[in-house]
Amino acid sequence: MIATPPYTLTLAHLYPQEMNLYGDRGNVLALKQRMAWRGWQLNILPIPLGTLPENLPEVDIFFMGGGQDTQQIAIEADLHQHKADYLRKMADEKALFLTICGGYQLLGHYYKPHEGKPLKGLSLIDAYTEAGNKRMIGNVLCELPSGETLVGFENHSGRTFLGKDVTPLGKVTVGNGNNGDDKQEGVWHENFVGTYLHGPLLPKNPALADALLLQALQRKYGVEEIGQTLHLLDDYWEQHAHQQAKLLVSSAS
Ligand code: GLN
Repeated sequence: MIATPPYTLTLAHLYPQEMNLYGDRGNVLALKQRMAWRGWQLNILPIPLGTLPENLPEVDIFFMGGGQDTQQIAIEADLHQHKADYLRKMADEKALFLTICGGYQLLGHYYKPHEGKPLKGLSLIDAYTEAGNKRMIGNVLCELPSGETLVGFENHSGRTFLGKDVTPLGKVTVGNGNNGDDKQEGVWHENFVGTYLHGPLLPKNPALADALLLQALQRKYGVEEIGQTLHLLDDYWEQHAHQQAKLLVSSAS
């Protein structure tokens, strides 16, 4: 066990009740556990509907899970009335945003569902989403720029299009990803991470989980202090789950 200071991070969990499709809260638990296995601490701060709590602590990571159109509609007004200014301030301060599917769609300029008016997004990334004619459902295999693979499950009708200068999270090799056309999946642009991959995503993609923790720790404690990588964990079961998911995808494609 490498002796290191007990580093701490705070994660604000946006709309934990409403935006939690397919157990996306499992991503929060995975980050907490990967900090704990290193002797560190991830404090979790639920941010429900309504006004923000007084005296918010310094938040390092914001998380928002997926949601059906009805949930996204239910939180839209609250997001802009009570959270948007604060989230934009924290985004400018380079806090890390991790968003899944419906939460990811609201990072961009708008999400236009099949019915009703477009939902206003936070415009934290140059992207927009419009519901397409088919639901994109199934297991997905992607490749990250690092060469690592990413596995997960998608279920969305929204088709997301990134601005030309916005960096995607990865390239789709099996499945649809952002829109079923440009072979892009998700976004990892500066401090904004979004993906269509449910599962939850992080337990069976440990390299991505650690890359997210690394970015948040480097921002808080400095690259000098944290270094370029986190010390490795025994990820036997995580890698086993990853390989099984890859087999599932390959057999289905
Ligand atoms: N309601 C959005 C869509 O259908 C997002 C769905 C989700 O979060 N899985 O595209």
